[in-house]
Amino acid sequence: MKKDFITMKQTLLTLLMLCSAVGVSAQYRPRPDAFPPVEEDYSTKAVTMATTVEEMADWDRYPTYETYLAMMSRWAETYPTLCHVDTIGTSVQNRLILSMYIEVQTDDDLYRPEFFYSSTIHGDEVTGYVMMLRLIDTLLSSYGSSPELTALVNSTRISINPLANPDGTYYRGNNTVQRARRANANGVDLNRNYPNPFAPAKAALAQENRAMMDYFEAHNFRLSANLHGGAEVMNYPWDSYTSAQNPHPEAAWWREVGRRFVDTVQSYSPTHFTDVQEADNGVVAGGDWYVITGGRQDYVNATYNCLEMTMEISVDKTLSSNRLPEYWHFLAPSFINYIKEIHNLPASVGIDPTQAPGYAAAGTLHIYPNPATDRVVVDGLVPGEKLWMYDMQGRLTGCYPSGAESTEIDIKKCPQGVYLLRTEGRQVKLVVER
Ligand SMILES: [Zn+2]
Repeated sequence: MKKDFITMKQTLLTLLMLCSAVGVSAQYRPRPDAFPPVEEDYSTKAVTMATTVEEMADWDRYPTYETYLAMMSRWAETYPTLCHVDTIGTSVQNRLILSMYIEVQTDDDLYRPEFFYSSTIHGDEVTGYVMMLRLIDTLLSSYGSSPELTALVNSTRISINPLANPDGTYYRGNNTVQRARRANANGVDLNRNYPNPFAPAKAALAQENRAMMDYFEAHNFRLSANLHGGAEVMNYPWDSYTSAQNPHPEAAWWREVGRRFVDTVQSYSPTHFTDVQEADNGVVAGGDWYVITGGRQDYVNATYNCLEMTMEISVDKTLSSNRLPEYWHFLAPSFINYIKEIHNLPASVGIDPTQAPGYAAAGTLHIYPNPATDRVVVDGLVPGEKLWMYDMQGRLTGCYPSGAESTEIDIKKCPQGVYLLRTEGRQVKLVVER
C-alpha cells in the first residue's frame, strides 16, 4: 500500500475488538494507519516459483529473479521490431530495474504519446509484478492478430516497468518472493522518498528513485500508473493534501477514469475494489484516504506534467500464486483501457506547486527577455537543479541541467507560442515570438 506499515504483531482478536470499538463496518477493512495493522499471514500463502521461462506459461507462478531477466530478454529477441528493454538503473544490491519499451518501428513521424506502467515500488506488493509481465506478453503476442491491441500499440508508445524495487521483492534471495519486504536494501520506503513538490527542501534520494526520475526526465510520459497491493482502490492525486485543502486540477477527470476502471473490474468480479471505506466505490482522492508526502504520484504529477495515479490492485500483498490468473481475468481489460485514456487527456496544462497551501517559496525564477526570439536567460536557479521546458500541449521540449544560478537557453528552433519553464517546484511562462 502507499501507506507505510509499522509491522507490529497484533492478534486478530485485538484487531476485532478495536474494529467494534470504533464502529468499523464489517465489510470494510480498517484504515491501515488507524491502528497497528496485522502482518500479512504467510501461513495462508501458497507461493510457487518459476525457475524457467517455460514454467511461467500458465501465469500461476512468480518468476525467480533470473527467470524475470530471461523473460525480458526472450521478448526482446522474439519481437525485435516491436520492443526493446530499457535499463532504468540498478538497485542498491545491483539488481536491474528494467522496463519493456513497446513501440512500432515506422517511417512516419506521427506523434505517439508515451504511457508508463510501473509496479512493486513496495517490494512485497507483488501481484502487480506478474500482472505487468503478463500485460507485456499480451501486447506483444497479440500484435497483428488483435485489432484492438494492434491499434493501441500503433498509436501509443508504452513502457512497462514490472519491478521497481527488486531488492525488496527478492529480500530472501533471488529464488523466492516469499516474505519479501516493502523497503529497499537500505531500509528506505521508496514511496516516501521522492522530493516533496510542494516544499523546496529535498530528501536524500534513494538510488532506485534517482534512476526512476532520470527515466522520467528522458521521456515525455503523459499518463502513468504506479501499482501497489494491500488494498483495492484507485487512488488519484494529491496524496499530500485532502481534496478540501488542495484539489487536483483534474480531479473530475480522475474520478471518471477511476470509475471506468473499477466498473469494468466489477463487471467481472463485483466484490473487488470494495474494501476502502473512504472511497466512492473503489475510487478515492489520495489525501482523503490518508495524507502522505514523498510519494511518487504527487512528484510525477507536479514535476513532469504527467498524470499518474496509484493503483492498489489486490488486498493480499503477496497473492497466492494460483490466484494470479483469476486477478488477471478481472484486471486485464481495465489495464488496457487505462492505456487508451492517454488519447483523451484533459486539455489543461501546468500544475504550479508553488500555489499549493503551505508552500514555502524557494525564491523566484526570473527570465529575460520575455517575449524572446533567439535565447532566454534564466536566473534564480539552485545550482545543480534541472530545468524543463514544455509547450502548451504539455510536451517536453527540452531538459537543461544547470550547474549555476543562471543559465541560457537557445530557443531558435522553438515555434512561436507560449511555453512553461519549470524546475522542481517553480515555473514561469515564456512567450516565444517569430
Ligand atoms: Zn504500496
